[in-house]
Amino acid sequence: MSHTAFLWHNGRIKPWAEANVHVSTHALHYGSSVFEGERVYATPNGPAYFRLADHTRRLFESAKVYEIDIGYSEAEIDAACHEVIRANGMQSAYVRPIVFRGAGGLGVLPKDGAPVDVAIMAMAWGAYLGDAAERGADVCVSSWNRPAPNTIPSWAKAGGNYLSSQLIGLEARRGGYDEGIALGHNGLLSEGAGENLFLVKRGKLVTPPSSAGILAGITRDSVLTLAAELGIEAEERELPREALYTADEMFMTGTAAEITPVRSVDRKSVGNGKPGPVTRALREAFFGLFDGRTHDKWGWLDVVDPT
Ligand code: PMP
Repeated sequence: MSHTAFLWHNGRIKPWAEANVHVSTHALHYGSSVFEGERVYATPNGPAYFRLADHTRRLFESAKVYEIDIGYSEAEIDAACHEVIRANGMQSAYVRPIVFRGAGGLGVLPKDGAPVDVAIMAMAWGAYLGDAAERGADVCVSSWNRPAPNTIPSWAKAGGNYLSSQLIGLEARRGGYDEGIALGHNGLLSEGAGENLFLVKRGKLVTPPSSAGILAGITRDSVLTLAAELGIEAEERELPREALYTADEMFMTGTAAEITPVRSVDRKSVGNGKPGPVTRALREAFFGLFDGRTHDKWGWLDVVDPT
């Protein structure tokens, strides 16, 4: 990952190196940031955001949960996202809008009128889990559970949530795995450190419900929509851990991870250890959105500079 020349910070485009924060920044001490991860794909019509409006909406919902006033409208944030891509002349990118409580004095409760910073960064970022995207990832079930409901809300994409993801991911890496999967407070499947989880059993797609302590992923929603389009039966339901060991196919979804096949869980092979037919069909439909092979009937692509 390499950074770009420009980013957007508090209302204007500026050089990357000039967007700094003070060490008293509230978010550093208390985790008070909310953010998004978005992708821009090179399409035949030029660089296009994938489901930008849905990401921006989730950013505003996350901010609402924590009573953080973004200070810009959703349309202004969308326009700023476009501007970052234009300023850097990028064809494709991973984009990271972040909203955080800034340097307004210490104390867990933010003071009235305390500053909120908004920044949007773009970077070149290939496959999140490296070559696992093609060969299939080796994952483990983490000894760490996801936070229980009514503790840290999983639908809000807040910086603090990623302490849980770090524990899960660090443990997985230490054990030689590509990624870790966490169980929820009730011992049932939830999600990966930074991805939602899908299993295929006898041709049917299943995924834990949005109430399973997961982030309600936009890629997850896209996969469910594409499955319906392809006539693949899909169900959101609670799943026990052993569903991982008895699945015919498995994959993880996320903006960064896109659709990453999983070839083993806890060193047990998933199916024959190769991406299966349902996984391959969904990957093809998903990536087809960006080269025009899949018709974007949902209006998911948001071209940066429509001609
Ligand atoms: N769960 C977690 C914990 C994540 O960080 C992500 C990535 N944002 C996802 C799921 C997938 O969400 P999306 O498809 O919206 O990127």
